[in-house]
Amino acid sequence: MSAHEPFTISDVRVFTGSGRVPASAHVRVEDGHIAAVGEATVRRPGDALVDGQGMTLLPGLIDAHVHLVPGCTQLAATFGVTTVLDMFSKPEVIDPERAAVAASARGEGPVRADLRTSSIGATAPGGHPTMAYSPLPYVTGPQDTGRFVHDRVAEGATHLKLIYDDGSGTMLNIPSLDVPTIEALVASAHSHGLTVAAHVSTASGAVTVARCGVDLLAHAPFDRMSDTQVSEVAETGVAVIATLSILDGFPGPDGVMPLLSQPPLAQRLPPRWRRVLQRQATRWMPPEPPDGAAHGYNTLALHEAGVRVLAGTDVPNPGLVFGASLHRELQHLVRAGFTPTDALVAATSLPAQIFGLVDRGVIQAGARADLLLVQGDPTADITATQDLTSVWVLGRPVDGDAYPGSAVEREGIVWQKQSTAKIVKAIEDLWPDFPTPQDVAREDGELLGRLVPTTGGWQAMTTFNAPLGTVTTHDAAIALLHARGLTCLVEPWWVRTLDDSAWREAELVEVGPDRIRLRWMDRMIDQPPSGQWFDLDDIDLTNEVPTS
Ligand SMILES: [Zn+2]
Repeated sequence: MSAHEPFTISDVRVFTGSGRVPASAHVRVEDGHIAAVGEATVRRPGDALVDGQGMTLLPGLIDAHVHLVPGCTQLAATFGVTTVLDMFSKPEVIDPERAAVAASARGEGPVRADLRTSSIGATAPGGHPTMAYSPLPYVTGPQDTGRFVHDRVAEGATHLKLIYDDGSGTMLNIPSLDVPTIEALVASAHSHGLTVAAHVSTASGAVTVARCGVDLLAHAPFDRMSDTQVSEVAETGVAVIATLSILDGFPGPDGVMPLLSQPPLAQRLPPRWRRVLQRQATRWMPPEPPDGAAHGYNTLALHEAGVRVLAGTDVPNPGLVFGASLHRELQHLVRAGFTPTDALVAATSLPAQIFGLVDRGVIQAGARADLLLVQGDPTADITATQDLTSVWVLGRPVDGDAYPGSAVEREGIVWQKQSTAKIVKAIEDLWPDFPTPQDVAREDGELLGRLVPTTGGWQAMTTFNAPLGTVTTHDAAIALLHARGLTCLVEPWWVRTLDDSAWREAELVEVGPDRIRLRWMDRMIDQPPSGQWFDLDDIDLTNEVPTS
């Protein structure tokens, strides 16, 4: 029994995973796999027909660097990312996600991307990323490595992640694994048949850890590599995951996160995730956001030196959204100097090869029918991948409307918020002088709102977490909260709900830190006289007349 009817995509341009087929082709799908690629004759009687004229069919995309969030495989699939390679998550998140992926593969429930995981990564006691994932089993030295790898294999890991980072790239001082321990981890992982990916952030660290025999670097270095360092890394045969998308964690000069100003991805983003990004735009930022120039330079230099470079996003870092951000990663690779074809290879056949996923990353008979159909030709213009028409995983079509507004989406967003709160708390504990959000109260103790440090100054926020005014100086933001923090509560606000893009005037009846009770001003709208509670995740709200 197949979970889908056989179908043929006709007259379509094909990107095979390594290049574009010159003439248009016909691709037949049956039982979750590609049955044939060729002339119109591949179509069988009874096949459903998908007209591919003017479009390009690609193997489903592979994001080679993610960290799992509940429901992420469903979200990734809606953007044509059909395999995610997890680079550090804990079993409490992995297990339910893996079960849901298995159900999807049996044809049950929403269609999800496939998933491979490292489970917990190997790091020194207190090492990166303790802040986000503690408590963790640590690796204290070579004597722990056999046990550590054994435990990860028992958790279902198919690759090992290890961390080599003493914080020197970010001027911190954090404990790191040493070279003998990394060598022991590599030996142990390889004896279990695991691929080894190493987190490293500096050019000199990349050389050191590549020489330990790891298979992959989880990031291209963030500081500029010398020619010698590039060839030293290349000589080892290590592959590199670019993660150029990390740059999307910083808002542009207009204060907008890059993903939100990228049509058509922005329109396709589920409204709740759009709000997550908007909130992230007002988190703490360095006064001078990085420009990513060295990161991009290194990625291209490594590629030109023959290093196999993979596309990976490091989602859910700030500013990134599962699936959507891989399209930005492709764009970043092209901006760094990759041809569109090389960028697409980095997100299809190459990661499949390196991770031993022999059944995907290509369009050929026998491969999984993990497919992405887009308008236009992404081998000519990489942004064409963003204009996606259809996605299939194991031949089942993805329903793009099933995820936005769902319970699984909410679970993912709550998880993300808790994880962010945990990291912020750890930062506050570690660096008491670090600029963090501050509550502002009146002399009698009445809370007026909060100040959030951000790029270029401070953003005043109301007690219900809506921005008041624009980014300004610390003193001006405090003055604004004193003047308007409470009076704004009795003013009209403009509100937009999850399923309606129109702004409507409303009065606030009651406010809490996470939800508000509001009453629409338009008396024609059917509503309870006392108004209605809304979760702040489910609405946009502003007290300036909205322009869009
Ligand atoms: Zn990562």
